[in-house]
Amino acid sequence: LHGGGAVMAETRSTCPYCGVGCGVLIAHEGGQITGVRGDPDHPANHGRLCTKGSNLHLTATPVVLQHQRLRDPQRRATRGATPEPLSWDTAQREIAERLLAIRAAHGPQAIGVYVSGQLLTEDYQAFNQLARAVIGTPHIDSNSRLCMSSAVVGYKQTLGVDAPPCSYEDIELADCVLISGANPAWAHPILFRRLEAARAARPGHRLIVIDPRRTETAELADLHLQLRPGTDVALCHGLLHAMLQRGWTNASFMAEHTEGFEALRAEVMAWPPARAAEVCGVPEADLWQAAEWFATAPASLSLYCQGLNQSRNGTANNAALIHLHLATGQIGRPGAGPFSLTGQPNAMGGRETGTMASLLPGHRDPANAEHRAEIAQLWGVPELPTARGYTAVEMFDAAARGEIRALWIVCTNPAQSLPDQARVREALQRCELVIVQEAFAHTATARFADYLLPAATWGEKEGTVTNSERRISRVRAAVPPAGEARPDWRIACDVAALIDAGLGRAPRLVADGPEALWRTHRDATRGRDLDISGLSWDVLDRDGPQQWPYVEAATPRLYTQHRFATPSGRARFQPVPALPPADALGPDYPVALTTSRLRDQWHGMSRSGTVPGLFAHEGQPWLRLNPADAPRYALADGALAGGTLAGGTLTDGALVRVQSRRGEAVLPLRLDAQVLPGSADIAMHWGDEFLGAQLGVNGLTQPAACPDSRQPELKFSAVRLSAADLP
Ligand code: SF4
Repeated sequence: LHGGGAVMAETRSTCPYCGVGCGVLIAHEGGQITGVRGDPDHPANHGRLCTKGSNLHLTATPVVLQHQRLRDPQRRATRGATPEPLSWDTAQREIAERLLAIRAAHGPQAIGVYVSGQLLTEDYQAFNQLARAVIGTPHIDSNSRLCMSSAVVGYKQTLGVDAPPCSYEDIELADCVLISGANPAWAHPILFRRLEAARAARPGHRLIVIDPRRTETAELADLHLQLRPGTDVALCHGLLHAMLQRGWTNASFMAEHTEGFEALRAEVMAWPPARAAEVCGVPEADLWQAAEWFATAPASLSLYCQGLNQSRNGTANNAALIHLHLATGQIGRPGAGPFSLTGQPNAMGGRETGTMASLLPGHRDPANAEHRAEIAQLWGVPELPTARGYTAVEMFDAAARGEIRALWIVCTNPAQSLPDQARVREALQRCELVIVQEAFAHTATARFADYLLPAATWGEKEGTVTNSERRISRVRAAVPPAGEARPDWRIACDVAALIDAGLGRAPRLVADGPEALWRTHRDATRGRDLDISGLSWDVLDRDGPQQWPYVEAATPRLYTQHRFATPSGRARFQPVPALPPADALGPDYPVALTTSRLRDQWHGMSRSGTVPGLFAHEGQPWLRLNPADAPRYALADGALAGGTLAGGTLTDGALVRVQSRRGEAVLPLRLDAQVLPGSADIAMHWGDEFLGAQLGVNGLTQPAACPDSRQPELKFSAVRLSAADLP
């Protein structure tokens, strides 16, 4: 007992930041979160936390709760006006009436719902039913579209279903780890700690890193292939070519467990190592070395993330990397397999519940009439929408055209995170109705809202999340929600009831709590590859986090019998071409801009930006260039001359105007040898309030997307640089 008789207690939950999914113990006293520590019993982190996780309690201080949280439902009389508080009853009634009016005038397809990988599985379930079964629109998508939809399609095309086959313990069991397009030292720090420990304990361990930047992860590598941005498929084809040429492939595995290689052969043979090395800008000897280490190690694991996914070649990048595993038999064994890392804490839950335009619950396909009928029956509705739903970029583009007239945006900040911000903000401006459901009041998207609905957040709500290794963990409430905030699932259910009443029909979304929604989700997985029919909240509470599929027990590793989820049971090679990035470099836009992540910030900083200490690592945005490029840009046409030269060389802090074909920003320069010459880098977190521009970093990036996954190419934008004057 402490002062006032309040009891200090700890509540077991899960970190709300990245897809590692670390267990946390939330200390609280008198309804106030007072501390956090790593859960020693959670299998993802065994008690450890990174800087973001260990500062979580500081996102729930009284100051943050009072001044940075959205605490009341609010309504703007007109766009640009100051929002005024109103009651939940009034807000929900007005929202239901306005949605019904738009639905009546323009059809259900005039309404789009845009959700988030931050949501809990139960929230996803509620919003999926609200959109597809109650409103009747196919246009529901998640911001996970921006981070892992290419991994989804890559797995489906090659292994048959969207299921990362590995476990975190494979990091400790691998003899060779290949990391491509990921910087876990900063973005997945607890996994990186596990990798460091594995290397120390395993003599002869090999680490290969493929990344245009010499990141902290690359610094640890035995071999860093610093490829040119956008050349990932060429590099993988070159590696496979080398393996074939030297006889490092596993012919019997290929013959017995794969199909389709002949259709790929011509593509691979077009990339002899010398050509691949030249196009990718890496030493040929390094390419040969990487091929040998990966193919001949007893167990090889690959870890990959946004560098592969955020590309117009996103699916091809994934498939080309998975080919290396299929050609060498490096899959389905301890320490071996292709392992996509998820960025968000519950991107996996969105995939499982099918809360994306391209998915239905239980890894079903919305284009499949049988699948739609199965879900309609499960949800107790006559049918689901048949039209193809718009994916993230398409949804906002449809709004900018006036086709989508209402957007309900849940727990995400598209006015900062989507590419081609000018177009996105045009869309928000044009919409008749913008509902923003958020925990934090200060997002760029909130400025466009007609209604702001306060959402409960970490430490305040109950449910589950699934991390990168298919492990489902409980999220628990330690304290009541801030102000009038409510759980996301409840807001969806309440408005759904009003819409159904307005349509004069029985309620289509009835749930007495998050566990009921979870059970509906569970029922949709029965008999599917992700079957969790043997799992319950009671089992999770009793036995702790569990990996799917779970019928009688958890499944740590998939494909151990080398039988894949395709009709033939064989894994499939895909004939993927190596296409150049969509945004062409040329004399006008000669520099390849990539975006990256900082160690101590998270996405658009809605949460991490409330903790002053997290700015200590990096306190402002920089445009990073390789020092070798400073004289090149400065002296080629003098564009960066004038106050920015010291001894003929650009100096740190010089202001640089960065222009792409879509927008511009002004940033101070930081010379950084991590950056590949000829390219530039900006951390992706910074919004317009931090830049000398109307738009944030994504004012520069482009909406061109992978044709299979519809994931936009956020990792490559052609830009030009010029001197900028102080405002
Ligand atoms: Fe949270 Fe990810 Fe850090 Fe773990 S590694 S504490 S899940 S941010």
